Amino acid sequence: MSDSRANFYDFTRDQLLALVSRWGFAPVHGARLWSYVYLRGTEDWRAMDELPARFRAQAESELAFGRLATAAETHSSDGFTRKYLLALADGRRIETVLMRYSGRVTACVSSQAGCAMGCVFCATGQMGFVRHLSAGEIVAQAMHVDAVLRGTGPDAALADAASASPHDRHERLRNLVLMGMGEPLHNYDAVMQAIDILRDPSGLALGAKRITLSTVGVVPGILRLAAEQRPVHLAVSLHGATQEERAALVPAAKKWPLDELMDACRAYIARQQRRIFYEWTLIEGKNDTPETAHAVGRLLHGQLAQVNLIPLNPTAGYDGEPTGRDAAKKFQAILAGYGLPSTIRQRRGIDIAAGCGQLAVAKK
Ligand code: SF4
Repeated sequence: MSDSRANFYDFTRDQLLALVSRWGFAPVHGARLWSYVYLRGTEDWRAMDELPARFRAQAESELAFGRLATAAETHSSDGFTRKYLLALADGRRIETVLMRYSGRVTACVSSQAGCAMGCVFCATGQMGFVRHLSAGEIVAQAMHVDAVLRGTGPDAALADAASASPHDRHERLRNLVLMGMGEPLHNYDAVMQAIDILRDPSGLALGAKRITLSTVGVVPGILRLAAEQRPVHLAVSLHGATQEERAALVPAAKKWPLDELMDACRAYIARQQRRIFYEWTLIEGKNDTPETAHAVGRLLHGQLAQVNLIPLNPTAGYDGEPTGRDAAKKFQAILAGYGLPSTIRQRRGIDIAAGCGQLAVAKK
């Protein structure tokens, strides 16, 4: 049965207080409702006993918690990665990943069901675009992971039983990457609304420096982000150092060519005084040669930038092989010669297809 109530998770705190005022109640009730949900993780109206019964009845008739049902959950064999297949209200499905690497816990959330950008090595791109997610559907993914960490989620018992660590309880989510399914800047308004909700200091209070948004290079979105005060980290997928090489891997480069992208990135850095993280999927024999590394070095030389080198993760629709460790190290050393810091991403979650570029679900 479809639920015509608004999704609580679509509202910023200010919007919620305004809504409560329109119902004829004091905003303080809205503030308390917000705290119940974001600080205590409560979605049970009956448990909100510090709120007047009349207010609760009104709120329950108007608002639903658009929590996403877990259709499937998989854990990587090393215990560091969990992938959730989550069902949206309309039956569409998306994937969300919980990563526990280097002492930090991070949620990787989706911004769209599918993706219109069509990067050739990406399973999401291979499935095509289904639809944008609402702000509430993005926030609900973070809340899903937060509930698992606190041990109160709908799948808490399952998570607990499979947990390798007693520390995997009563934590809060502190890090978020928008690197799941979809291109965040193609769904700009909903993504920014979700970021604002998740950053609210009286809610989940994620620090802006703990949020990373990854784009394939949507130039208008980068310029818009440059002009706004939303100091999240920006990651730009590069993958090719010339227009031709990049367009062969990233079809979106035909719409937003490399020189326009570089202009937008320089404008972003100048305006925000912030480093850009360039993502480079290392594909053996394709974009991992020393010549290419020099071309990347020349392209980014002088920019406030860091390059994240990501050996290709396998997907059904692309034949390429990942670059080996030695060649990746050589690539990295050449970048260092241009003053460019870089990291080589550890390959995690591959056995459950939760690595970069591997998220996909059957298109409904
Ligand atoms: S890499 Fe990102 S932008 Fe490209 S197709 Fe995949 S999800 Fe879309």
